[in-house]
Amino acid sequence: MTSEATTWAKLLPTYARQDITFTDGDGAWLVDADGKRYLDLFAGIAVVGLGHRHPAPRTAAQAQLDRLWHVSNLYWTEPMSELAEKLSDRFGGAHTFFCNSGTESVEAALKWARKATGRTEVVSLEGSFHGRTFGALSVTGQPSKREPFAPLVPGARFATAETLAGQVGPDTAAILLEPVQGEGGVHPLPPVALAEARALADEHGALLILDEVQTGVGRTGTFFAWETYGIRPDAVTLAKGLGNGLPIGALLVSDEAPTGFEPGDHGSTFGGNPVSCAAACAVVDAIDGDLLAHVLDVSAQLSEGLAPLGEIRGLGLLLALELDRPVAPLLASALERGLVIGSAGENTIRLTPPLTLTHDEAALGIELLTEVIA
Ligand code: PLP
Repeated sequence: MTSEATTWAKLLPTYARQDITFTDGDGAWLVDADGKRYLDLFAGIAVVGLGHRHPAPRTAAQAQLDRLWHVSNLYWTEPMSELAEKLSDRFGGAHTFFCNSGTESVEAALKWARKATGRTEVVSLEGSFHGRTFGALSVTGQPSKREPFAPLVPGARFATAETLAGQVGPDTAAILLEPVQGEGGVHPLPPVALAEARALADEHGALLILDEVQTGVGRTGTFFAWETYGIRPDAVTLAKGLGNGLPIGALLVSDEAPTGFEPGDHGSTFGGNPVSCAAACAVVDAIDGDLLAHVLDVSAQLSEGLAPLGEIRGLGLLLALELDRPVAPLLASALERGLVIGSAGENTIRLTPPLTLTHDEAALGIELLTEVIA
């Protein structure tokens, strides 16, 4: 730990950072500036799905660094085209817009929904989290995050899974949902709610957009979380795990949905960056049946091992452990014991380890977390 870190940091105070500087990573392990090792059960907020410096995206990114870094979206590049093909195959037919982050993928989705329907209202869920830029913030169902920045983009309506039907109508451009609310506390959406959202969107001529920024790219045990829900959305947003740590976001629009956008409607200078796309191609290839089965196995192991400590909920390796007390002090004591964990709400520990976490590492994580909470 670097105790002077807060005195020399020249950063705006948007984060309550732990006073620790990480310098190296390997698989599910991090190393700090003093050489201390940490088991990482957080993966940079559900990002480093294959583990730190996984050889497949690392080799792909390094090879691309040796060829071409950037040309802009006024031209084609091979990694961008290949990634769009791979994502289309996973989705079952989709066209992609590439950007650099989750919030940008939601911005793209909101603009696309307006253009595709000519309507302006978006219905999302209370407790949801869709990002920090104005559009994404406007549809985020957490008043504490929205209110300091009002006035926001008009047209946002909020519902619960039970009151969705009452909020969707002829002005609804889109219903926007996270299959599992991540930042909002790791709450899986009941399958019946997703089925109802699909039916409501169809009934009212609205679009169903799933925000899979946190749940996508294998985290819940399928490539997209919606695969287990038996419905197909009109569009999906991705980011976090897609680049295994290199910045990339994506909006996938189903081939059956309206294209919406025309040239000039939307853009991003860096979107589809060749290095990020090369890494992401390797990530998508690595999310195979074996790894997805492993995600479910390790999820079961963690759920069983942690059950004596509190209520466990979640899907795959997006897990919450609900305690009867604030978890903030526990994050610091976990670091002291060489364990990185996250939170999602005052009393909720959030675990989003690399999907490649071994059974031995999971067992060690259970042991360390049990000591921290005891
Ligand atoms: N959507 C969801 C579901 C998220 O979990 C997040 C981030 O946590 C975002 C959007 C915003 O992503 P980013 O921080 O990359 O802008």
